[in-house]
Amino acid sequence: MSELRTVSLKKRYRARTVVQDVSLSVKSGEVVGLLGPNGAGKTTLLKALNGLIPRGGSVLLDGAEMPEKTHEIVQAGVALVPEGRQLFPQLTVAENLELGGWLVPKAQRAERLAQAFVDFPKLKERATQLAGTMSGGEQQMVAVARAMMCAPRLLMLDEPSLGLAPKMVDELLTIVRRIADAGTTVLMVEQNVKKALTVADRGYVMERGTLVASGPAKLLARSTVIREAYLGADKDPATGTTSAADAVRRRKAVATP
Ligand code: ATP
Repeated sequence: MSELRTVSLKKRYRARTVVQDVSLSVKSGEVVGLLGPNGAGKTTLLKALNGLIPRGGSVLLDGAEMPEKTHEIVQAGVALVPEGRQLFPQLTVAENLELGGWLVPKAQRAERLAQAFVDFPKLKERATQLAGTMSGGEQQMVAVARAMMCAPRLLMLDEPSLGLAPKMVDELLTIVRRIADAGTTVLMVEQNVKKALTVADRGYVMERGTLVASGPAKLLARSTVIREAYLGADKDPATGTTSAADAVRRRKAVATP
């Protein structure tokens, strides 16, 4: 199990600040949802945490500064399932999983693969199928199983439910919960706020590069601000959209005489 903490994490693209002073924590064995609208900076944050882009600020893994190079981050026990899965479509399910275990000593690789098929029994039946011929949900499952091949301490998922049918989303999120209960800490970016909050322990809401709300998942799910911003209530009639920050501002405006 592992604990992640960011302190004033920052990322700029040229003159534009995309992630600003983000301080969050994910405790051992928790599922933490990072929620927010398109363009909020969620993917950028995950990329920065995984060393795919340079970052400012500090990232601590179990109290020690996290390395900055991706292969060192992976070696430290951190795995990322990127948005869009990025499987090798012309390779079989088993081959994709084996590639996920490239850092595992060769002698342990077969053992990890056998474990993946215990954890993801559906994939065992499909071991020889080409990954590119699987449904979106099945591919997402391969992507998660591949990330689990190196037995990470911390698993990060970028929009795992994107484009999946509701039943598949439920199945996948159940797997995510099981992974955390089995001891891997999970940080999950999700736009499917309602469903994410049913499996998460805590959540952070990000907008325009900053965190605008956080708390236990059950409280966030009940929060008027979150419901207004993401769960369909009280949308701006002009744009059909709203945001958590706008919702906070509106509520403050109502409360201020
Ligand atoms: P989505 O849910 O749509 O993926 P997000 O919250 O993950 O949104 P990011 O993908 O992190 O948002 O993007 C945040 C902002 O950073 C966006 O305005 C985006 O255009 C910008 N951005 C992302 N990558 C780059 C880049 N390589 N160069 C310049 N700007 C970028």
